[in-house]
Amino acid sequence: MANILIVAEQSGGELKKGTLAAVQLANQLGGGFDVLVVGSGVGGVATALQGYGAGKIYVADDAVFGNYLAQPFKAATVAAAEASGAKFIVSTAGTFGKDFLPRVAGAIGAGMVADCVGLAEGGLFKRPMYAGNIIATVKANTERVVISVRASEFDNASPVGGESPIEALSVDVGDVAARFVSFDATESERPELTEADVVVSGGRGLKDGPTFWNVMNPLADVFSAAVGATRAVVDSWDEVPNDMQVGQTGKVVAPKLYVAVAISGAIQHLAGMKNSKTIVAINKDAEAPIFQVADYGLVADAFQAVPEFIEKVKAAR
Ligand SMILES: Cc1cc2nc3c(=O)[nH]c(=O)nc-3n(C[C@H](O)[C@H](O)[C@H](O)COP(=O)(O)OP(=O)(O)OC[C@H]3O[C@@H](n4cnc5c(N)ncnc54)[C@H](O)[C@@H]3O)c2cc1C
Repeated sequence: MANILIVAEQSGGELKKGTLAAVQLANQLGGGFDVLVVGSGVGGVATALQGYGAGKIYVADDAVFGNYLAQPFKAATVAAAEASGAKFIVSTAGTFGKDFLPRVAGAIGAGMVADCVGLAEGGLFKRPMYAGNIIATVKANTERVVISVRASEFDNASPVGGESPIEALSVDVGDVAARFVSFDATESERPELTEADVVVSGGRGLKDGPTFWNVMNPLADVFSAAVGATRAVVDSWDEVPNDMQVGQTGKVVAPKLYVAVAISGAIQHLAGMKNSKTIVAINKDAEAPIFQVADYGLVADAFQAVPEFIEKVKAAR
C-alpha cells in the first residue's frame, strides 16, 4: 500500500513534465507512491515513468479515455485510489488537474489542497492566495487528501533507477454525462508555455496583434522560446489566442529566462511569472512595476530595443 497516488499528466501519449514535479512532492511527503496513467495508447508514458521509484504504475488504457473528459478520468482516479489505498491523491495544477481533481475529492469525501507550492512542518501544505501575495499554510482535516501541485515551484524529480511494475486497471466509467465534440488545438512549432526553458511575453505596448507577432516571433526564434502574453493582449487582439495568457487567470510559468516586452507588470501578471529564474524587462516607462521584479531592466522603446537585443544575442553566440 502506497501513501500517495500520482495521476500522470500526458498529452497524445507524451508525458508532461509537470508530472515529475508531482513525483518530487511525493518524495518530500514520503511513504512511497504509486502512479496512475490514464489515456488511450499510453503504454509509452507508463514505461517512461518506470525509473522514478513508484511502487506500482496503474494503467487505464482504453478508447474511452482517448479524448479527455473529466468524468472518466475521475472514475479511473477513484478506482486507482481504491486499489492503491493511498492517503494523498496528487496531480498537476494546470487546466488538467483543475478540472478533474475537485471531482475526485467530491467523490471520495477528501479535502482538497489546490495549487500546493510546498510543505510546512506538521503535515501542513503551502498554497498561494490573493494572486500570490500571501502564502497560506493549510491543513486538510480529512482522512484522504487531494492535492494539485504547482509544477513551477518544484524541481523535476530525477530517475532513481529500478523498474516499477505496471498493472492494467479496469475502470467502470458509468454513464458519462458529457460528450466529446472536438478539440481545437493551437498549432505551434514552439514549446509549450509551461514546459519551456525560455518564455518571451508581450504586452499592450506592442500596439496591435500583427505588430505583436512582428516583434515577438523573431525574439522567440532566437531563444527557441515559448511566446506568452498579458490578459490585456489576449482579450483585445484576435491574433493572440487566450491560451497564451500568463498570470493569475492564465498560465503560471517559471522558466529559466522570462523576457517581458512592453508589459506594465500588474500584480495579476506577476502572479504567473515572478518565480522565473531570470527576468528581463523592456519598457519605455522607468516607473513600470515590472522593473520591481526584473533582474535586468531596459528602459527603452520595444520597437527599437528588441531588434537590437536580438542582434546582440546572435553576435554573442
Ligand atoms: C481578476 C483579474 C485577473 C487578471 N488576470 C490577469 C492575468 O492572468 N494575466 C495578465 O497579464 N493580466 C491579468 N489581469 C489584467 C491586469 O490587471 C492588467 O490589466 C494587464 O496585465 C495589463 O497588461 P499589459 O501590461 O499588457 O498592459 P498595460 O498595463 O497597458 O501596459 C502596457 C505597458 O507597455 C509599455 N509600453 C507602451 N509602449 C511601449 C513601447 N513602445 N516600448 C516599450 N514599452 C511600451 C507601457 O509603458 C506600459 O507599461 C487581470 C485583471 C483582473 C481584474
